[in-house]
Amino acid sequence: MINQTQLPSDVRSVAVIGSGMAGLCAGILLKEKGCEVTVFEKSRGPGGRLASKRVEGGSADIGAQYFTVRSPGFSQFLERYAGTDTYQPWQGRFGYQKGENHWEAFPEEDRYVGVPRMTAISRALSAHVDVLAQTRIHSFNRSTDSNRWSLVTTEGENHGPYDAVIVTAPPAQTMELLANSNLPALAAEMEKPVQHVQPCWAVAAHFAESPFAHYDGMRPMSEILSWVANNSSKPGRDDVGQWWVLHGAPEWSHANEQTPADEVARQMVSEFRAITGTELEPDGLVPHRWLYAKSSATETPGYRWFDDERIGLAGDWLDGGRVEGAFNSASSLIEALSR
Ligand SMILES: Cc1cc2nc3c(=O)[nH]c(=O)nc-3n(C[C@H](O)[C@H](O)[C@H](O)COP(=O)(O)OP(=O)(O)OC[C@H]3O[C@@H](n4cnc5c(N)ncnc54)[C@H](O)[C@@H]3O)c2cc1C
Repeated sequence: MINQTQLPSDVRSVAVIGSGMAGLCAGILLKEKGCEVTVFEKSRGPGGRLASKRVEGGSADIGAQYFTVRSPGFSQFLERYAGTDTYQPWQGRFGYQKGENHWEAFPEEDRYVGVPRMTAISRALSAHVDVLAQTRIHSFNRSTDSNRWSLVTTEGENHGPYDAVIVTAPPAQTMELLANSNLPALAAEMEKPVQHVQPCWAVAAHFAESPFAHYDGMRPMSEILSWVANNSSKPGRDDVGQWWVLHGAPEWSHANEQTPADEVARQMVSEFRAITGTELEPDGLVPHRWLYAKSSATETPGYRWFDDERIGLAGDWLDGGRVEGAFNSASSLIEALSR
């Protein structure tokens, strides 16, 4: 039976899968409440889509471009656990294209970035909870006598047992974990969320000189590009020349999922040059494909809690598809634990 009310009070040890904003937040807040927590992460380091890629002379944020801090809860969490020196407002000029030569400024809003790179935040957060990196969870099995969960990695190692499991992976990966764990009814609940997730090709492009001076971040009217930004205009970057980050439009990225990365980069740069009118050519290109970039779901319950199974789901896809949504999702799930 699926019950979305509260976590039982006897949950004292929890496995969290994924160390993006949702997983780190869940892990830290659970620890705050006296739980023993281990966060499992398949990648080399924490952060998930709060990602920076090493490029010549520095790094470029190829995932989340900036984040909002609208809720006092998120602000307090970041101040307390990430520290105010790990993020700053990005005081750039932001605009969107309304017609061929018609651009308008974005509404005023504080937009924050990690300093000197996005991953500064996840690194700082991960110091407050045990994160086991390079550990991809394949499945979890419940013992019939103790009702506790053991996790099995793709390498065949066992971890646990834990009273509860919280999964913060994107929907397709969550569905796979639930199916591997012999939880077909829960896995079936993921079918719709999976359909709402869109891919995104990202390219970091280096220019020796500024290719465009009017905006630092913009949404062009384009079938190929959905966002372009001057990464070097973010605070704390110390680049020679400028690194720009280009994001492919969702449908175009989907249609080009299997296109070789250098061809994707060529088309995206060509579109960037057409949009900005620059004659400059980049002298460095770093492409990255996000298979699960953003969720366009409009039904966002915040989090899921399956009481009989003691499995929780949190992540951006449950609360608006952004960094602050990932925090809101995980913090509202953990709030239920404390009731
Ligand atoms: C190109 C792009 C641009 C974006 N721009 C913005 C923006 O400007 N502003 C904004 O607010 N948001 C933006 N977003 C969205 C934002 O990055 C996400 O909303 C947020 O980072 C999601 O956090 P999360 O913790 O929910 O998920 P994730 O960050 O995806 O974390 C999930 C983690 O789970 C791990 N994982 C998955 N499966 C397993 C497994 N089996 N075992 C162990 N670990 C596993 C993954 O490796 C990952 O680290 C953007 C995203 C992309 C990709």
